Amino acid sequence: MTAAAPTALRVPYVIAHADEAAPQPLWFTQRPLAGPRLAYDDPRRGDVVRGVLRARVLNNRRGAPQWRKLNTLRQWRCMERLLCQVCGGVATDPATGRIPWIMTATAFRTLPDDSAGGLTSAPPTCSACIPEALATCPQLHISSTVCTVARAEPAAVLADMFVPGQGGRAVPTGEYSVEVGLSEEALIPYALATQLIVRVYDLQTAGRD
Ligand SMILES: [Zn+2]
Repeated sequence: MTAAAPTALRVPYVIAHADEAAPQPLWFTQRPLAGPRLAYDDPRRGDVVRGVLRARVLNNRRGAPQWRKLNTLRQWRCMERLLCQVCGGVATDPATGRIPWIMTATAFRTLPDDSAGGLTSAPPTCSACIPEALATCPQLHISSTVCTVARAEPAAVLADMFVPGQGGRAVPTGEYSVEVGLSEEALIPYALATQLIVRVYDLQTAGRD
């Protein structure tokens, strides 16, 4: 018997689990001179992050993995602290100071004013986890490039959009995973952020063998 493909896949750190869902009632508050703003009906410290209302989820990794969904808290943590999306450890290579990052066609886009960078919603992957990530994720296999970046900064969010209904009730517009820049003041009051998008700088293709 030779070592075949692993049957018990490690569930990546960022993947959401079924029991982490924590839907909360949303409504619109009226701010003097500032118009309506999306909020939870029981506001807590930490609901608003970087000026945007963030989706509440639990962080217990319980229940079946939801392979197509990321846990908002862990995705955010990976982006802000540059942690590996697979193992949750520090992604930055201590030898070079650069951050290994798998860029995919669906989670990365270039910016017109920066040919050596862009925006991505997928967190970095530490070099130790890159082979596993490429081997186990079919999507990565098809359209991915292993890169490194010099640094990354929060730039936008992916958000679900709402409008005020009767009595301030929050009504979903049906627009999900809309990219909203952190400085887009007109859209932010209507957005519930589910993922943090970062801008990466000095993106370079890593050698692949
Ligand atoms: Zn890792």
